[in-house]
Amino acid sequence: MEKFSKGNTEDKISDSPAVETTDLDLRTLKDSELLPIEQAKEIISRYGIKIIFPSDVKRGERVAKSFLWMDEDAKPPVIPDKEKENCIRGIASEMIMYPEEFFRSNGINKFYIISSEIQGGFVDTISKRLYLSIENYRSIPLKVREGFTFHHELLHLLEIATPQGREFKKTWNLEFPRISTLKQIIFKILGKAVGDEFDKRKEKFWEIPSSEWKKKYLSNYSALNEKEDRAMTAGLLFVSPEYMMNTLAKNTSEIIKRKLSYAISLYYKLSPKMDAGFWADYAMGKVDANYWRTRRY
Ligand SMILES: [Zn+2]
Repeated sequence: MEKFSKGNTEDKISDSPAVETTDLDLRTLKDSELLPIEQAKEIISRYGIKIIFPSDVKRGERVAKSFLWMDEDAKPPVIPDKEKENCIRGIASEMIMYPEEFFRSNGINKFYIISSEIQGGFVDTISKRLYLSIENYRSIPLKVREGFTFHHELLHLLEIATPQGREFKKTWNLEFPRISTLKQIIFKILGKAVGDEFDKRKEKFWEIPSSEWKKKYLSNYSALNEKEDRAMTAGLLFVSPEYMMNTLAKNTSEIIKRKLSYAISLYYKLSPKMDAGFWADYAMGKVDANYWRTRRY
């Protein structure tokens, strides 16, 4: 259990190839770092996206039921306007990382919000829908990991909804050593044993893996399976420019570097505007709400 604990001294003094990820939970997105509501709404509509709250779901429409409110006859839960507003501002503030036509050209036009006590989100692979929990957006400042959640879940969706994403999944699985079933079982058992403790401290997710795995995975959660590894690797690129720069600068693991460059090349395939120039601008903190409209090529 000790090896999963935060700030393990051994990790700090040894030559650690994985960047320290545990401080991510402490970082937040303050009100001033989020787009104002009117601008957020304008961007979401300009990008061709509709955010569907529980009360917007049409009667009889099939929506995911796992950890959800949705019961055929149940009335949708009421999400307070303030929380809806936080949600719209939070999502729009992440969407601006992508070019304006990104979602349209990749066939994505809706994000579903669920009323749940559980943080995070998931993608229903059958209906190809992305669900985010309102729990992520209850109050400002938003935790930085909720911004990350958006990009992580979006990658899951892109993998099933686009040919480029499906190709990415295939080549990734060929390129990187598969996580053995035994390791997955061990991870699950260990994860369960220490789960309560970490849930309390909300850090299991980000924790850097123990010695052997940290050459291969950016976080514990990445080691769960290939799918989560891909979504973590891609999603972590969008946490912050500083985080990305630190990850690239400090990480000496060739496998992790290759994984990051695979993820970067997927975004280029999904939108040629997300090229090296974009990542350089992002690293310098230049990507804001006006970026794609004013960018010079
Ligand atoms: Zn995931």
